[in-house]
Amino acid sequence: MKEENVKDFISLRLPCVGRVPSEFFLRIIAFGFKKILIIQCEEDYCRFKKGSQIGINRFLLLRAMIEELGYDPTVLSLKKNAIKAIYDTEKCVGCGKCVFICPYEAIEWNPIGTPEIQSEACMGCGACAMVCPHQAIELMGYEYESISKLIQLYGTKIHEAKSKGIAPAVLVFCCQWSEFSALDTSQTDLVRQNVTIVEVPCAKGLDPVHVLEGFYSGFDGVLAITCPKEECKLEEGKEIAERNVIALKKVLKQLNLEDKFETCTTSPKYPENFNSLLKSFVQRISSSRPRIQTTQ
Ligand code: SF4
Ligand code: SF4
Repeated sequence: MKEENVKDFISLRLPCVGRVPSEFFLRIIAFGFKKILIIQCEEDYCRFKKGSQIGINRFLLLRAMIEELGYDPTVLSLKKNAIKAIYDTEKCVGCGKCVFICPYEAIEWNPIGTPEIQSEACMGCGACAMVCPHQAIELMGYEYESISKLIQLYGTKIHEAKSKGIAPAVLVFCCQWSEFSALDTSQTDLVRQNVTIVEVPCAKGLDPVHVLEGFYSGFDGVLAITCPKEECKLEEGKEIAERNVIALKKVLKQLNLEDKFETCTTSPKYPENFNSLLKSFVQRISSSRPRIQTTQ
């Protein structure tokens, strides 16, 4: 939004901007909003067949309709965007895994043997960050540090809630593509219910350290929600993800926490699925033995 030079704005995050009914835009224009910026996925990254082109056609139609109704059509604008990967050359050991896994051929070798991310080709899928053995790649907005900080922050709130007798506390790592209905619930409401959702670029590439941090911060159970195999954009990373989960479960067993962690799949196609998975996990954690107490 800095580029747009707008200080006061409301941001709405949606499963797909192409699915917002025209009536919604007309109502908010009539309500007095001066500018509406629609940020659409990059062409190649749209989940729906020809969805991007359909989105553009709808946008042009809507603009014409707005003009017809006597409003300034420039009130509505469209921009394409994707989260971009960034990498730290000092951490890179030049193994080349990221170059081979990128489904968009957005990473090139440069002559000195380190990769170079072509920002304009990057679709922000997260596959490279998932395979990099040295955490040299991060996705803007999903950096390792920022996820850690979020867990600690919500951990503090969970301790407050628990002191008021609200339990159990559940941490959910949710793939950015697998679930959207949770975004309709404010984080405050979720924390009040002792369920905290942290979105990650791909739950299959979830860092086991973040799961352990969740337990250390006081959560009683950790659930990782991922897309079904056939819908995952990063199928190549499946083996790495499975290896991560096996290693994580071994550590959790040693800590007596193996029954407090679960992975499951869902899709925006089945909006009710998320709530029922969450409900049954919370019930299971509530009825199981108390976890080892942590220090705060
Ligand atoms: S985030 Fe995805 S598209 Fe971007 S460089 Fe990494 S693997 Fe390629
Ligand atoms: S996967 Fe990581 S360490 Fe290997 S080349 Fe890519 S950035 Fe460097």
